[in-house]
Amino acid sequence: MRLKIVQAGEEVLRQRARALTRDEILSPRIQELIEHMRDTMRDAPGVGLAAPQIGESLQLVVIEDRAEYQRELTAAQLAERDRKYVPFHVLVNPKLTIATSKDGQNSRNTPNIFFEGCLSVPGYTALVSRANALTVECLNERAESMTISASGWYARILQHEIDHLNGILYVDRMESRTLTTLENARRIWKDTPTAEIQSRLGSKSATTS
Ligand code: ZN
Repeated sequence: MRLKIVQAGEEVLRQRARALTRDEILSPRIQELIEHMRDTMRDAPGVGLAAPQIGESLQLVVIEDRAEYQRELTAAQLAERDRKYVPFHVLVNPKLTIATSKDGQNSRNTPNIFFEGCLSVPGYTALVSRANALTVECLNERAESMTISASGWYARILQHEIDHLNGILYVDRMESRTLTTLENARRIWKDTPTAEIQSRLGSKSATTS
């Protein structure tokens, strides 16, 4: 079943979602909700969907990055984004830790800036800086503990979806001068390097490290 995707402006997208108990995760209601979220994400299509996006203020996320979604990108663009196939999986009550680099610096300092969009803010995209590497501790759909180590695009998806559980949208983190319609992103900026996009649109991050 396809669920309605909640759009920006609805309060549920700005609330902190509550954790699920192990019994709740295994309940028919949540098991069914996970199936419906999977169908809704595939139908959209999207690479991730968080429960607040279908109006449920719960710490529940589904993710799947299929090869067919990556067809618009060249091999070089996929490599630059470190974007690979991610099979369907479920995260419950995720705790995200940003990996630190060898010199102790937060890896957020390493630029990883690309266009990002959201099914709850349709029609637009903007450059968003995201950490390159992270770890997530969570439960899966069988209420089993999992630890995920992710990098590149998968790390970006995780940050975007876990932000949803904390009432944060990508527009809170975007370089606002790079806000672009999806149509213009494809027409004008598809093959332009990030630094040039920032420079031409006058994004201040173009001059910061
Ligand atoms: Zn989103």
